Amino acid sequence: MSTPAVLRWPLPDWVIAEAGIACPACGTRARLILAMDLDDRSDEPSYMACPAGHQWAEKRLPRRVGAELLAEVLDAEPGLLGSLDELRREYGGE
Ligand SMILES: [Zn+2]
Repeated sequence: MSTPAVLRWPLPDWVIAEAGIACPACGTRARLILAMDLDDRSDEPSYMACPAGHQWAEKRLPRRVGAELLAEVLDAEPGLLGSLDELRREYGGE
């Protein structure tokens, strides 16, 4: 049984600033949420959402970046993998 390791996570502000990302609908750059999929290292645009609930596909952030970010986080905090389901309940879904 494998569950897709997809996590929706608020991006750190420095990543948002560095990538120059803003919500295309309301222009906010704060607490943008990135959908990260460990198994998707393609160059397709990542799905993002802002706190107001706007969602879009962000071309400046290919999915492999999210997969790498998530892999790095799990490397640094292996215990997090066991909490993925919990985190997904908190941050995941629509
Ligand atoms: Zn927005």
